[in-house]
Amino acid sequence: MVYDKNNIFAKILRGEIPCKKIYENEYVLSFYDINPQRKIHALVIPKGSYVDLDDFLINGKEREIIEFFKSISHVAKLLKISSRNEGYRTLSNIGVNGGQEVPHLHFHIFGGEKVGKMVS
Ligand code: AMP
Repeated sequence: MVYDKNNIFAKILRGEIPCKKIYENEYVLSFYDINPQRKIHALVIPKGSYVDLDDFLINGKEREIIEFFKSISHVAKLLKISSRNEGYRTLSNIGVNGGQEVPHLHFHIFGGEKVGKMVS
């Protein structure tokens, strides 16, 4: 799939649309989901242009991949929902059957309460 430069997360990365930022470094941006599905619902996205996890793991640089996954854990710590606290769920939707709406790789982080069944 070709990366769509006009997807909403690309616009957030370019500063064209605001977000409620949680964390940012050279490789990633994390912000609150606009339509939270749980008490805490954050998103983590890479700054590079990757459609989904498959695209990222095939085409991303090793450093980008390492920093991205480390940042998920870091954001959970910042939100005080890491394994040292009550825990959380992270997931990434991929493609049509995965229910992906925004075609820029993102991991959801859910927490702050019992998240519930894995798939409903
Ligand atoms: P997905 O279905 O995995 O592609 O999830 C896309 C997520 O992006 C949804 O949970 C939306 O609520 C969220 N979302 C869409 N637009 C925005 C935005 N402008 N700021 C924050 N989150 C957004």
